[in-house]
Amino acid sequence: MKKSLVNVCRIVLAVVFILSGFVKAVDPLGTQYKIQDYLEAMHIGGVPDILTLTASVAQSALEFCLGIFLLFAIQRRLTSNLIVIIMLVMTPLTLWLALANPISDCGCFGDALVLSNWQTFWKNVVLLACAVIVARWPKLMFRFVSESNQWIVINYSILFIIAISTWSLYDLPQFDFRPYKTGTNLRDNWQRTMDGEDLPYADLFIEKADDGEDITETVLADTGYVFLLVSPYLEQADDSRLDLINELYEYSREHEYPFYCLTSSTEKAMTQWRDRTGAEYPYCLTDGTTLKTVIRSNPGLVLLHDGIIIRKWSHNALPKIDETNSTTPLGQLPEGQMEANSIAGRILEILMWFVLPLMLLSIADRTWMWTRWFRRRHRLKLKRAVIARNMKKENFNPIYNNNKEMRKKIVAGNWKMNMNLQDGIALAKELNETLKADKPNCGVVICTPFIHLASIAQFLDQNIIGLGAENCADKEKGAFTGEVSAEMVKSTGAQYVILGHSERREYYKETPEILKEKVLLAQKNDLKVIFCIGESLEEREAGKQNEVVKAELEGSVFNLSEEDFRKIVIAYEPIWAIGTGKTATAEQAEEIHAYIRSIIAEKYGQAVADDTTILYGGSCKASNAPELFAKPDIDGGLIGGASLKAADFKGIIDAFK
Ligand code: PEP
Repeated sequence: MKKSLVNVCRIVLAVVFILSGFVKAVDPLGTQYKIQDYLEAMHIGGVPDILTLTASVAQSALEFCLGIFLLFAIQRRLTSNLIVIIMLVMTPLTLWLALANPISDCGCFGDALVLSNWQTFWKNVVLLACAVIVARWPKLMFRFVSESNQWIVINYSILFIIAISTWSLYDLPQFDFRPYKTGTNLRDNWQRTMDGEDLPYADLFIEKADDGEDITETVLADTGYVFLLVSPYLEQADDSRLDLINELYEYSREHEYPFYCLTSSTEKAMTQWRDRTGAEYPYCLTDGTTLKTVIRSNPGLVLLHDGIIIRKWSHNALPKIDETNSTTPLGQLPEGQMEANSIAGRILEILMWFVLPLMLLSIADRTWMWTRWFRRRHRLKLKRAVIARNMKKENFNPIYNNNKEMRKKIVAGNWKMNMNLQDGIALAKELNETLKADKPNCGVVICTPFIHLASIAQFLDQNIIGLGAENCADKEKGAFTGEVSAEMVKSTGAQYVILGHSERREYYKETPEILKEKVLLAQKNDLKVIFCIGESLEEREAGKQNEVVKAELEGSVFNLSEEDFRKIVIAYEPIWAIGTGKTATAEQAEEIHAYIRSIIAEKYGQAVADDTTILYGGSCKASNAPELFAKPDIDGGLIGGASLKAADFKGIIDAFK
């Protein structure tokens, strides 16, 4: 239920973020204008255009990429937290917009979908709620690509969206959602406005700059071709393609097609432009905002035919008129035909270039994962069959049990509060040399006091001996004097951390909730957790050992996703056996280990249970280790006292030989 809720919220957020980022990216200038409107509403002036344009591209790329990352469940915690932060900023901002109404349309979906300010606010409230749910349980989001392949999606999405923005900036918006898109009948719209209809942006009026005559009707009533060179602000217009514009103007004169320059600039700017270009086309005044809506290019060229917009060109992609076509009338040139409705083609291009590759990647990745899983299951089944056969034979050694063979065996030392720095280094060095000379048959880990970690990490061959801490804080960072965070542990070079040791539960009052936080933080920092559970003597005497270990698992680690639980090593340590010299018998230990495995199977399934390493701890020594480790559900030991001498520890490690 919780998982479904998280995934529904995640899909809703992902779709909204992808759409909102994409429609902004296809119209970077439109998004820039919106940012400028916001700045104006907040009375922030003087921000250079280049900054607002960069912000426009960055905003669309951020929204789009976060949407894609959420869809693919990439960096689940980071992505969902970032989305919460964005929604925490956007929701109050849109409330202010709804109350004060300084801008009529917030522009969250560019021109593709215009929402009122109140609609936008309520939309954001819903998104914020979804974001909080997803950020609360990010690990419940299922993946479409495995962690190892996520870098492909990350880089490809960033590259794709930046390319779309750049392309739309160079050319024109790849999807035009505005009221002046190609195919719009301006004459009809103008007539309907004249008849009193309230049409969006139907405020195009064209007034001759020299005598103020309104020629809108004349221009729109023309049944032939009309060129409109559109430059909202001539003083900011790009003049790198003046030659092409002049050639087009010459061509229009030769064929007697009207050619107007529409601008909202001052007379001075018009004179300067005329001096620069040497062109004598007539200048007309039009509202600057309308012109920015007509075409996202300054200057841009619009071609009307019979009052209908049939073509639009950005100044970077103007049609070329030369000797080969200058004498041909427009009606016979491709430039004079209505631009083919390319929306379907563009969508197809996007599908081909972006959606298809990611879909293929996802399918390949999932297939690879499933085949791996099936292969593992198959291997496991075969091994079980072998074991079942062997069980019937005499002298069967359960150490070569099927599942057991598959699981990682570990002997981990817990130094507790022993050894000063020099002694600790000497012990680690001795162990390092010993195990380098005589390679162990199992994983070996030493968990030391914090102060030893960084020094030991310098020389320890971590291919042979893993290094771990004995604890870490339940807080990420901050004013917690004397605490050591998981991130700090990780930064020393350590890979493991013991959590939930009975001494910490008892003397430092570590509750299941505190331990749950510690586990999450340790995993967030890529530390492998050795999680200790175990009952006290009274609990054992009352026959409550199963109940106790179950509650301890449920309280601190059963909240984890399957993927994260798989990274946990469990250490069963009956408190009455720790440091007392009283070991649980091999049968007692096996019984409860088997029980622990069974509740893991109940929670995560048999395959996870079969793969989970469960260590035994409590007065384990070289003399009793072989018998304990031979049990089918005991995968090694967590060793206290006997890990403080290299020879004793090595004796226990050798139980696996
Ligand atoms: C321990 O504290 O983890 C432990 C098992 O100690 P000992 O081996 O000394 O009983």
